[in-house]
Amino acid sequence: MGGSTPGGGAQYTILSPAAHEETVLLYKSVKGMHDLIPPASKLWSKIEKTAQTLFESFGFQKIVTPIVEEADLFMRSVGETSEVVQKQMYVFKDKKDKTLCLRPEGTASVARAYVEHRLFHPEPYQKLYYWGPMYRYERMQQGRYRQHFQVGVEVFGSADPRIDAETIYVLSQFYQKLGISNFQTEINSIGDATCRPKFRDLLVSYFKKYEKDLSEDGKLLLERNPLRLFDSKEEAIQKICQSAPVITQHLCVPCKTHFEAVQRALTQLNVSYHVNPHIVRGLDYYCKTAFEIVSGGLGAQNALGAGGRYDGLVQSLGGPDIPAFGFATGIERLMLALEGTQEPGYDVDVFVCALGEKAQAFAFGLVNKMRMQNISTEVDYEDRALKKQMQKADRMNARYVLIVGDTEIEKGEAVLRNMKTKVQKDISFSNILEVLQREILK
Ligand code: AMP
Repeated sequence: MGGSTPGGGAQYTILSPAAHEETVLLYKSVKGMHDLIPPASKLWSKIEKTAQTLFESFGFQKIVTPIVEEADLFMRSVGETSEVVQKQMYVFKDKKDKTLCLRPEGTASVARAYVEHRLFHPEPYQKLYYWGPMYRYERMQQGRYRQHFQVGVEVFGSADPRIDAETIYVLSQFYQKLGISNFQTEINSIGDATCRPKFRDLLVSYFKKYEKDLSEDGKLLLERNPLRLFDSKEEAIQKICQSAPVITQHLCVPCKTHFEAVQRALTQLNVSYHVNPHIVRGLDYYCKTAFEIVSGGLGAQNALGAGGRYDGLVQSLGGPDIPAFGFATGIERLMLALEGTQEPGYDVDVFVCALGEKAQAFAFGLVNKMRMQNISTEVDYEDRALKKQMQKADRMNARYVLIVGDTEIEKGEAVLRNMKTKVQKDISFSNILEVLQREILK
């Protein structure tokens, strides 16, 4: 991460000026869609492994759904008036004139698969997690891209408020395990089909008083989905929102009871949170609990992850009436939040410098045995001078160098050099694999 392209926001990679000079760039990645290359990919893999281990220990199983879906799925679930559907979807016709799209988010696809494969039968309670790219035609800036990756979880089949709290807890634990501590959990209840319409009317009458101060976009939101006015980035709207009625004071009894129980459970799990009645979430399918986790160090795009309860979605996609709760968190934003915090580490455990024909033959067998013992190993087959091979080991960021020349072959020993401390020692061929394994585990 760290470099930038004109108008392209942050990149995962830094191309050195020299690399530019030597290359005629005939093709570049599409605006807003970035390559992931080493060394940034190391952190990426760490995030992926952390997610997998943590989510699986909470009982989530992996689900992979296609990137391409019918566009109608998102119109129905995310909502036709949502910004994602209105402005950001990559929609196209296939050769049979079917209207398809690149998925803009994961929940609708997972819910579609849950219904399509009758995963609710015989047991509706299912916990699933996914990892994959999402596509939104957005105005780009740091932390906002046209292709971004999300990892997310969905719990189907429980309306229990402890599920809301437990799932928020998983996300906060995920950030903590990655080493992000500078974040805040904001929660809200956005009511349900009983109390939200009444609150909506209240909000409309409040905003009507300020209609003349609203932009065209604001007026449209007021007409189509007034709750989303709270999400608006426009300063004038933000100002009007400050004195607007808040939904937490207009919840029906079941929503209020649910929200209080979520808060009690969060406290029990030691999750510190803040009730923010202006959190409404951009997508239509949410009800009751909505939450966002924001990070202090991310600037304008400070939402690390978000989610909530969506009890009506499964039924609206043709399934039974099954409640659900989930979250998604953007990987690029995690990469930004973790930028500069990672130890550089090593790219290979051992680089084998083999000098001379016999040593080369010996090394050829040895390196592949080492690799099979999970010792990441590289070697230079060009039989160059030791100095050149050591330079390559350095460029490859090796932790150790194992030197084998004719003398070593005769003695039945190799020299192991720690590249950081520069300390060298002889190790016998007879137990070379065991010694190397012990060394790299240190
Ligand atoms: P959303 O589905 O909009 O709630 O997004 C879930 C998470 O995905 C956000 O909290 C961000 O971390 C991330 N995200 C959403 N949109 C983008 C984007 N355009 N570029 C990068 N990350 C994004």
